[in-house]
Amino acid sequence: MRIELEKLEGGRGSFAHVYRPEEIETIDERVRLTQPVQVKGGVKRSGNEVFVNGHVETRAQLECDRCLKPVELPVSADFELEYITGAEYESSSAAALNEEEMSVSVFDGESIDVDEIVKEQVLLAVPARMLCREECKGICPECGIDRNSGQCNCAAEEVDPRWAALKGLKNTDR
Ligand SMILES: [Zn+2]
Ligand SMILES: [Zn+2]
Repeated sequence: MRIELEKLEGGRGSFAHVYRPEEIETIDERVRLTQPVQVKGGVKRSGNEVFVNGHVETRAQLECDRCLKPVELPVSADFELEYITGAEYESSSAAALNEEEMSVSVFDGESIDVDEIVKEQVLLAVPARMLCREECKGICPECGIDRNSGQCNCAAEEVDPRWAALKGLKNTDR
């Protein structure tokens, strides 16, 4: 969905849309959306600047970083964005840009791409580190068993190589 600035009455408007999960392709392959994505918000135009604020909501499924079990969690984000035209950006970058102005996005002066906003906000709202629970024991790197549901002897069998050699000698003695 795009917001055409020309159609804004008095430079203001509001928007609301519901995307199917598959319409919002997140770049992060860990993240799979499991519910429709709702977005709503407002737009305000002021000269060459456009202010967009709103709220995004959905549910996402991620894998636990340790045991790879799928974990579902709510995604909810408020956003406040500022856009300026490319021409405006160039003239204001000639003057020293302060940090606040650096977070501004450049747009074509005609429309705002809500799809892009939603994709970005969903990614920002998803945690970078995901655990099914804080004390998740993960997967054994040797045999692949899920240590939360079973135990293996891999760690116990990890013997000092020198002992292993002795063990070997013993066996040949027999
Ligand atoms: Zn886990
Ligand atoms: Zn194991």
